[in-house]
Amino acid sequence: MTGLRACVIGHPIAHSRSPLIHKYWLAVHRIEADYTRVDVPPEEIESFLQHFPRGPYVGASVTVPHKEVAFRMAVEVDPVARALGAVNTLWHKDGRLCGASTDVHGFIANLNRSQPGWENGVKTAIVVGAGGAARAVVYGLIERKVTNIVIVNRTLARAKTLAEHFGGKPVAASFKSLPIHMREADLVVNATSLGMNGQAPLDIDLAPLRKTAIVYDIVYAPLETELLKAAKARGNPVVDGLGMLLHQAAPAFERWFGVRPEVTPELRALVASDLAREAKK
Ligand code: NAP
Repeated sequence: MTGLRACVIGHPIAHSRSPLIHKYWLAVHRIEADYTRVDVPPEEIESFLQHFPRGPYVGASVTVPHKEVAFRMAVEVDPVARALGAVNTLWHKDGRLCGASTDVHGFIANLNRSQPGWENGVKTAIVVGAGGAARAVVYGLIERKVTNIVIVNRTLARAKTLAEHFGGKPVAASFKSLPIHMREADLVVNATSLGMNGQAPLDIDLAPLRKTAIVYDIVYAPLETELLKAAKARGNPVVDGLGMLLHQAAPAFERWFGVRPEVTPELRALVASDLAREAKK
C-alpha cells in the first residue's frame, strides 16, 4: 500500500498526538502512507468537507471544534455517530463523505483494559461534564448497562439536556449535590476540560467516595491530573485518558488502511514521553 494520505483536522491542531499514533502504526505495519495535521479554521470547514471525497486523503480524524459539523455533512454515518450527533472519523466511498464516532469505543476499551471486569462492580457512575466527550461517556455506560448514571455539570441546564438526549435514563445534578452522589458511586469520570494543562484542576472532594470506586479522568495532558493524584493517594483504582485516545484511533486506522492495529505498551510509552516533554516546556 503506497502513496496513501490521512490527516487530523481541527483548530487549533498543533498539539494533536494523532500523527504520532498513526505514524507509529504505519511503521509497525510497514505501510507506506503519510498522516499529517491540517489546521482548518471554522470558516473553512464546510468547503474542506465538501471537497474531501475528491481530495488527496483516504480519511481524517476530526477533533475540536469540527465533530458536529462533520456529522452534519457526512452522507453516511455509523449508529454511534448518529446517537451522539458527532463524528471523529471520516472517509469516503463512491464520492460520498462517510463518518463514524470511535470515542465510545476508546472510552470503554480503555476501561476494559485497565480495570477488567469493571462492569460487575459498577452500578452507579458519576459523569462530571456535559459536553461532547461526556455524551460519548454516557452513551458508553448506558451501552454497558450501568444502572444509575448521574451527570454533574457547572451549567445544570446542559446536564439536563444531555440526560434528556438519552431518554431521561441518566439524571442531571448540580455540583452542590455531588457529595451525596459520591457516597453511592462505583465510578467517577471527569469528562470536563478541567485538569488539562493550562486549566484549573477539577476540584471535587473525594472524601465521601468508597475506596473501591474507580476514578477515570479522560483528560490526558497531563497524564496524571490532580484528580488522579488525589484518587491514587487515597487508594482508589485510577484510569487515565491516554488509553482512550489510543483506543479511539485504532478503528479509524483499520478503516483507512485495512489493518486493525494494537494498542501496545510501546505505543503508550511513546505518547506518554511526548506528553511529559510538553509538560516540561
Ligand atoms: P466541551 O464540549 O467544550 O465540554 C467542556 C466541559 O467542561 C463542559 O461540561 C463544561 O461545563 C466543562 N467546563 C469547562 N470549563 C469549566 C470550568 N471552569 N468549571 C466547570 N466546568 C467546566 O469539551 P469536550 O469535547 O467534551 O472535551 C472535554 C475534555 O475531554 C477535554 O479535556 C478533552 O481533551 C477531553 N477528551 C479526551 C478524549 C480522549 O481520548 N482521552 C477524547 C475527547 C475529549 P459547562 O457546560 O458548564 O461549560
